[in-house]
Amino acid sequence: MSGRLAIAGLGPGCDELVTAEVRAALEQATDIVGYIPYVARIAPREGLALHASDNRVELERAKLALELAAKGRQVVVVSSGDPGVFAMAAAVFEALEAGPEAWRALDITVLPGITAMLAAAARAGAPLGHDFCAINLSDNLKPWTLIEKRLRLAAEADFAMAFYNPRSLARPEGFARALEVLREACGPARPILFARAVSTAEEALRVTTLGAARPEMADMRTVVIVGSTLTRMVAGAGREWLYTPRSA
Ligand code: SAH
Repeated sequence: MSGRLAIAGLGPGCDELVTAEVRAALEQATDIVGYIPYVARIAPREGLALHASDNRVELERAKLALELAAKGRQVVVVSSGDPGVFAMAAAVFEALEAGPEAWRALDITVLPGITAMLAAAARAGAPLGHDFCAINLSDNLKPWTLIEKRLRLAAEADFAMAFYNPRSLARPEGFARALEVLREACGPARPILFARAVSTAEEALRVTTLGAARPEMADMRTVVIVGSTLTRMVAGAGREWLYTPRSA
């Protein structure tokens, strides 16, 4: 059998949000490649090799996946959420571009998944109902000056904004700074959603304002959504919905 490489998104956490297409690819796989906590979501079975690696080694992981596929294996690279959103799909294409010519002939597919911001937005209502952008707040792969520039310009353009990787133990000060920039650009009354571990047993949602937001409200399992000038609350059955109307 000739090798295949699927780059798959496992969705935000629960099994119900894994697509049928991804499930089928996992069932046919001989090798799963990914970051440790994502590979841990795959049930072990006879004939399935699990290649779990640590964070920050995306390119090596991508190369391993391509090498295995070139040897004829049925490889699935797993990411959480969607593989094209701050995840492995781009790393695989980067490795493909730099790698041996023979890899270009490989059968590669990207299988989408439900990304964290969409799962979080659905829980809260429809905060991304009008124009929005997504920004990765980690400065591992880009300088902080660029993050701050994008924050200011996104606020000026009046996008709703989704923030991935808001805060880690390694860089606790970055998110505090991001909140300061946003408060300055959007004012203290702007709604902000902290959505942690959406669709898992630890799921926790909190809606507050930029004025009341504290850096400790986010961690690495949280996606943060800041509304635009239009974003507001509407009362529902026993709860408040957060939404952004469709017209400006
Ligand atoms: N490819 C992933 C994102 C990887 S970056 C996706 O499409 O969702 C990792 C970041 O995603 C985390 O720091 C957090 O901001 C967000 N994230 C991933 N899963 C999440 C979940 N279940 N709930 C809230 N945020 C999540």
